[in-house]
Amino acid sequence: MGQYCRICGRNRPNEKFSGKGHSKHICKECTRMPKKEREEIEKKDEIFGYLKQSHISQKNITRLQKLVLSDIESIKKLAGIVLEVAEITPYKKRRLKNLARERRDLLEKLEVTGLIYAHHYY
Ligand SMILES: [Zn+2]
Repeated sequence: MGQYCRICGRNRPNEKFSGKGHSKHICKECTRMPKKEREEIEKKDEIFGYLKQSHISQKNITRLQKLVLSDIESIKKLAGIVLEVAEITPYKKRRLKNLARERRDLLEKLEVTGLIYAHHYY
């Protein structure tokens, strides 16, 4: 049957996971990846995930405020954009319309970074 690895995105047979990796959904190969590289993938997933939600909660915002302080440049940037979006228009409904009207610059950033795809994800 195997299991899905949330880092490489592959469905891999059970023997490709160690005990610990199983519960974390990270295959053995990805476990050996440099920590920073793995962290970047995980945090990107997390940030994109917030835009998939119908509502970005206050708890999510607090988390994004931490991610903005990341020492990984790409994470800092993405978290900053989503944080701004969450503060202006926390609900997914009509988000793009609101941004088009009030913050076209931010809407453009969503497009350039590909974050917009997370918004359109169902
Ligand atoms: Zn993997």
